[in-house]
Amino acid sequence: MKPGNGTDLRRITILGSTGSIGTNTLDVVAQLGGRDAFEIAALTGNGNVALLAEQARATGAKLAVTADDAQYDNLKAALAGTGIEVAAGRSGLIEAAERDAGWVMAAIVGTAGLAPTLAAAKRGADIALANKECLVSAGDLFVRAVAAGGGRLIPVDSEHSAIFQSLEDTQRHAVERIVLTASGGPFRTWSREQMAGVTADVARAHPNWSMGLKISIGSASMFNKALEMIEAKHLFGIEPDQIEVIVHPQSIIHSMVGYNDGSVIAQLGCPDMRTAIGYALTYPIRTKLNVDRLDFAKLARLDFEAPDEVRFPALRLARTAMQRGGLQGAVMNAAEEIAFQAFIASRIGFLDMAEIAEAVMERMTDIPPALSMDDVFAADGEARARAAEVIAGKEKAA
Ligand code: NAD
Ligand code: MG
Repeated sequence: MKPGNGTDLRRITILGSTGSIGTNTLDVVAQLGGRDAFEIAALTGNGNVALLAEQARATGAKLAVTADDAQYDNLKAALAGTGIEVAAGRSGLIEAAERDAGWVMAAIVGTAGLAPTLAAAKRGADIALANKECLVSAGDLFVRAVAAGGGRLIPVDSEHSAIFQSLEDTQRHAVERIVLTASGGPFRTWSREQMAGVTADVARAHPNWSMGLKISIGSASMFNKALEMIEAKHLFGIEPDQIEVIVHPQSIIHSMVGYNDGSVIAQLGCPDMRTAIGYALTYPIRTKLNVDRLDFAKLARLDFEAPDEVRFPALRLARTAMQRGGLQGAVMNAAEEIAFQAFIASRIGFLDMAEIAEAVMERMTDIPPALSMDDVFAADGEARARAAEVIAGKEKAA
């Protein structure tokens, strides 16, 4: 089902098909014709091989890959007799990315998604980008890799999809600012004292969106918004001071673009990732989707409030990372991934996550700008090691 051509089968790959974005992508694929319209070159997951195998069977995927080497035999057994190829580990992920699919959904969580997404970009696939960490860590290097490959970079993050949809190509010169909306998460009205003692189970309960664990916790700490500020800078080639964040608790306006004639263009919809995923899948043509429609009379009001960078220091860290430039985004992101893992393991408190990211950023201000992806991976690795040190130091002191 190529845009403008109702007959050809489109070949696609979903990296991270077992996650929240991955399962929503498969839902959209099913809505838009399933096996009659799409051929699935590859699906990838991690520990959940039962779901991965089920998805591969249901879609007739050519290749199924688990990132977890130890799960290879289980996946192989689950797909025995189907003719579906099986692979595992980092090399398996790269193989999935390199399979001949014209459109690749990048929906692995965290920096683990960078290498496979790059592999798909380099061979010229269109990249539907959910994995914002690619842009936060590798920044312009990633954007250039996609451009060099010849594919398109289509944002899937709801805010960035909204901006992409609101950006008029002929009016780029007139863009004054972009306004990222943020729900404010479950702790929008909480004091720092209240947030200090929360567990991962409390923090993951998002008021509007149903998402994976990492991004749910990141919404509660607003670290997700911090990543999105940096993501926007690289995606849209704008200056840090052109990026505003506004808290909008209903999550109906997904983000906006402000122009130099005073106009603001916004994209609205119910909080459902399938709209952004569908837009990326059939871009530049919109296609009918079975998602809820907005009922403005029921909605009655849309609220806005300024974000609080004291209670949510992640926003301040994003500004610092953008001002410093270079590999500070990679450092911030990697340190926070380690801090997030320590938080969900109950080793540190909720507020410690931003503190650890900031401590690691302060220790790594002097690294030179990245000339290659190897520099990105090196900074990522060093930031992880330093974050682990800070966490161990905190535990010792406690
Ligand atoms: P998730 O945790 O639900 O799913 C992550 C996927 O990555 C799963 O398929 C999992 O098996 C796989 N995975 C996990 N660890 C891996 C590893 N080490 N190597 C390879 N694969 C691994 O996450 P999600 O919420 O779907 O988010 C995926 C990406 O999309 C993230 O970058 C997130 O920030 C972004 N995103 C998500 C949403 C959302 O609504 N969930 C919205 C916007 C952006
Ligand atoms: Mg988002």
